[in-house]
Amino acid sequence: MKNECSVVRDILPLYIENMVSEETGNFIKEHLEQCPDCSAEFEAMKAGMKADEVGGDFHSKLDEEVLKSMKAARKSLHKKVCRVAVIIAAIAIITCTLLHFFPVYRIFEVGQLSMGNYYSSEQIAKALYIGSASDRREAQAVLRLADKAFNDTQHTRAENEEEYGVLARYATSTDDFGDASFNEHSLELWSAHLDKNEGWIWVYYSSETFNHDGSTACGSWRIPSLWKLERNDSGEWVVVQIREHP
Ligand SMILES: [Zn+2]
Repeated sequence: MKNECSVVRDILPLYIENMVSEETGNFIKEHLEQCPDCSAEFEAMKAGMKADEVGGDFHSKLDEEVLKSMKAARKSLHKKVCRVAVIIAAIAIITCTLLHFFPVYRIFEVGQLSMGNYYSSEQIAKALYIGSASDRREAQAVLRLADKAFNDTQHTRAENEEEYGVLARYATSTDDFGDASFNEHSLELWSAHLDKNEGWIWVYYSSETFNHDGSTACGSWRIPSLWKLERNDSGEWVVVQIREHP
């Protein structure tokens, strides 16, 4: 191989890619026209580079396909996850709403106390549906009076009965607790079921009365209680009976 041939072959790859100056290009071209060896080498190299290009295209096409299908898979997975999340949220909302109106879990608190059939199943059932909004609204007046009775620690039993009727049992009478100072309580309306002149409400309360020195005089904690209501002559609801497991 001539010295010129070796120089030409070094430059051939650049020549094929059109990356040489015009002068160098002319020099190579001229040489190839005269030198069959270099010309053959040139043809072979060109063919090889083309094959590489085609191979590269094939690979990038394959990569693109894989990438596309991965994207599609991710998209459909995302869709599925979203759909499942929506379903779970819907179930949670429906369950919460149902449990709000039908707090069936209270059967454990009420049912436990009914051992020995203290409450009838009909009475227990009244605790498992909170009742209509209007019944609950009407029952609030009774709860306000009960609230007052719970807070009362300053009157005799007779005075309390005069003031609160059946609810007097929740007041702390000075007959029994002469040193009573103040009361703390919570009172929750569980359910209200009122007919025209008669009705039942379930309430749930805790109550503690303290002496002047801060010690506990008396208390009741977490008591489910069933109150029977009747309309009096002025059309107001009054508690006429209280059922509490002894
Ligand atoms: Zn040559």
